[in-house]
Amino acid sequence: MHAVCLDIDDTLVDFTTSARRALARMIGRDDMWPTWQRMTEEHVKKVVAGEMDSDSMRLARTKAFMAGLGTVLDDESVLKLECRRHADMTGAWQLFDDVVPCLDWLRAAGLKVAAVTNASGPQQRAKLHSLGIARFFDTVVIAGELGVAKPDPVIFQTACRQLRVSACETLHVGDRLDTDAVGAQDAGLHGVWLHRRGPQPPGDTGVHVIETLSDLPALIVSEYLTPAATGPAGVPGQRGPDPVSGAGGAWSTISGRCHEQ
Ligand SMILES: [Mg+2]
Repeated sequence: MHAVCLDIDDTLVDFTTSARRALARMIGRDDMWPTWQRMTEEHVKKVVAGEMDSDSMRLARTKAFMAGLGTVLDDESVLKLECRRHADMTGAWQLFDDVVPCLDWLRAAGLKVAAVTNASGPQQRAKLHSLGIARFFDTVVIAGELGVAKPDPVIFQTACRQLRVSACETLHVGDRLDTDAVGAQDAGLHGVWLHRRGPQPPGDTGVHVIETLSDLPALIVSEYLTPAATGPAGVPGQRGPDPVSGAGGAWSTISGRCHEQ
């Protein structure tokens, strides 16, 4: 294993909590989140297809959403409303507690790290910078910039190419089973589903399932890496007094799926 790709929203950043609260504040009720999500997915597709820039998309989405609630707004009113909602949301962005320790471990283990995300470029880059984690990534691949979104294999393969690693030596972790884990697996990477919340996952998903990024190092060590020298496994909290520093460069790859890529 040479590289790990990570989704951003609801994998690294608690996007749903901030976006849902900002929406509820905008309309004074909390029952419209599924409708907002559906409309967002429809509008983001237009950004990915190059039919609309992300700022215009946000205004068009909010205007259409409010119209669906029976409130027809002029352009100026939509601009004010959307700016307030967006500021509310971005001001509340937070990393999950398990993110920085996991990123620290991945870098200390000598793995390359990419972010692979399906949203718009400016928003995702601003998110990584404002939360102080941009420094961890060798590359950031964004659907809104590439013109192709997960689960299209092209976006995963683009990340591998930019990292200069083979797909079969790369792991992708994300909170969506189909879009992230299965999509990555179909593109030739190893897929891991981060199931942070919700009901018990189905038994046989065909991919590894973890409930927190704190479990990722142990999964990588047990399933994908083997120590080059005999010794304790390099899992934080499960080896001796020095859990991280010995990991760099001390691993060889198990890549049973790798075939001349
Ligand atoms: Mg996500």
